[in-house]
Amino acid sequence: MKFVDEFRDGELAQTIARAIAAEARPERRYSFMEFCGGHTHAISRYGVTDLLPANVRMIHGPGCPVCVLPIGRVDQAIKLALERGVTLCTYGDTLRVPASESLSLLKAKARGADIRMVYSPADALKFAQEHPDKEVVFFAIGFETTTPPTALILKQAQALNLPNFSVLCCHVLTPSAIMNILESPEVRLLGTVPIDGFVGPAHVSTIIGSRPYEFFAEEYRKPVVIAGFEPLDVMQAILMLVRQVNDGRYVVENEFVRAVNRDGNVKAQQLVADVFELRKSFEWRGLGQVPYSALRIREPLAAWDAERKFDLHYRGVPDNKACECGAILRGVKRPTDCKLFGTVCTPENPMGSCMVSSEGACAAHYTYGRYKDVVA
Ligand code: SF4
Repeated sequence: MKFVDEFRDGELAQTIARAIAAEARPERRYSFMEFCGGHTHAISRYGVTDLLPANVRMIHGPGCPVCVLPIGRVDQAIKLALERGVTLCTYGDTLRVPASESLSLLKAKARGADIRMVYSPADALKFAQEHPDKEVVFFAIGFETTTPPTALILKQAQALNLPNFSVLCCHVLTPSAIMNILESPEVRLLGTVPIDGFVGPAHVSTIIGSRPYEFFAEEYRKPVVIAGFEPLDVMQAILMLVRQVNDGRYVVENEFVRAVNRDGNVKAQQLVADVFELRKSFEWRGLGQVPYSALRIREPLAAWDAERKFDLHYRGVPDNKACECGAILRGVKRPTDCKLFGTVCTPENPMGSCMVSSEGACAAHYTYGRYKDVVA
């Protein structure tokens, strides 16, 4: 398949691996964080770490939208469906995220709540149009990639003056999370992780472009290489990061030139700016409260904002004490450091959010057997 097969070529991967091994200086260690769950998935699926020299280490970041969704937000969605009688529509991965009282949206559905999986926000809007007798809420999660479609349906709901539809908005922002990983007070509690550079998001960057990372690279003196989600993209990005570190450079480079430019999708950005505004603070699972890291629906669209419509108030809920998702999402620990990994906690029975989505670090390690040599 065009733009897929050529980025999975084994011989080319070996060639890039040899270049990384030749250029990585043996006297130093290189630690790079891949922010996105899509990269984590590709690294585990294609065994990218097996191709890297021992002194080049990949650290998993918090870029899996399901993994960073806090329990309190899932609780809000469950309560809407169970106690307020709404039809709740959301993406498939969200259904299995563990919430309070051993519940999840899927388990709430089993208790009789009307919860439906949709492939796009447009499906939720269509359902509301076709069922005027039902109160429909779209539970919107995700990074900058999934935000424009949510903005679009909010505009459409407004244009249609649709009274039985609203959005529970939990969209979050990438650059603020990357900054939080490096500078928040929790870093002192969980320990610091030495990060020499970042493999920057792929799909997110098609929307926001590479420009937003420039301040970050300069301010924190960390190189960023935006990369696609295929294994050769990731390998090439690692080589580019090794070169920047060796040269003492810290700039934003773009490996994913086939999809990302400096400015991103300006039309989508304008749409998002029209519909959403910054929240002062938002809780991320694993990162805690992160200032200016999420979006809320603007006042002119308040009638379609589920938080205002149903007068919802957020209540934070701590994670399962044994779950190490918080430390894993910050790159401080690995999935295999968690005592529950692969025993009590599996993709069929996730105890924490990192085991839910295929993009979660724990699920990726478990699914592709990357833990077996560690625990053997
Ligand atoms: S293995 Fe399960 S319980 Fe442990 S950190 Fe991962 S998701 Fe949390």
